[in-house]
Amino acid sequence: MRKKYEIKTNDQIRKMRVAGLLTAKALENVRAAIRPGVTTLELDQIAEKTIRDGGGRPNFQLVPGYHHTICASVNSEVVHGIPSNRVLEAGDLVSIDCGAEVDGWNGDSAFSMVVPGLDSDLTKQRQLQSDVCEGSLWAGIAALAGAKRLNEVGVAIEHYIAQRGKWGILEQYVGHGIGRSMHEDPAVFNYAVRDAGPKVEPGLCVAIEPMITSGDQKTFIHEDDWTVVTKDSGDGAHWEHSIAVHSKGIWVLTAPDGGVEGLKSFGITPISLD
Ligand code: MG
Ligand code: MG
Repeated sequence: MRKKYEIKTNDQIRKMRVAGLLTAKALENVRAAIRPGVTTLELDQIAEKTIRDGGGRPNFQLVPGYHHTICASVNSEVVHGIPSNRVLEAGDLVSIDCGAEVDGWNGDSAFSMVVPGLDSDLTKQRQLQSDVCEGSLWAGIAALAGAKRLNEVGVAIEHYIAQRGKWGILEQYVGHGIGRSMHEDPAVFNYAVRDAGPKVEPGLCVAIEPMITSGDQKTFIHEDDWTVVTKDSGDGAHWEHSIAVHSKGIWVLTAPDGGVEGLKSFGITPISLD
């Protein structure tokens, strides 16, 4: 049976927006620091400082056994990479996942990018993979705006990806509800599932996070017990936003513009509660 999850009021959603914006700021600062020669641990410190200076707590540190502010997953690592002294190289495909908790409410967001400084067929392919993954996230968010049931999000994500070539979609890892905890029910699938899922109604807050691979979608967990790596050594990409459904529409809490740009090509206008 599906567990119960909290339906948020507009006031609670406004609080989640504060956490979402701080999450976005941390990711923005990390993005600006990504260049050849930087270590993923340095990126972690930038994110942590941004969140603490902004009056929040890095919510990844509240996950039992995890001690960092971001996950940094490089090339064949898809998600849950642990920051370390690993040095990023030009052309690497890196995915950064981060979350902030402010005043008891959470944000969760992720992006992928190709480390600048190298132009090759491989980097073009990696950029395309990141773009397809990002586009599928916005397709999922756009679907949420008009959905009656939550499984319509996964149908839209899978459809968007399938139309753009042969990519793998991770199935063991999915999106989730978000609120007082970073991870809440319900599960948000990135592919079509038979179960319609819960009703999409005002107060539903979810993190949508497609993860795609350049080859087969099969993965294993590295001996560090965290990092999810592709079995065939293909590349992984990961994009994520936290989104609120409210009485007037949807609002992308972890996008500084609330989702205006990302949703434009889908003909959807997000509504701010500010
Ligand atoms: Mg995340
Ligand atoms: Mg998440």
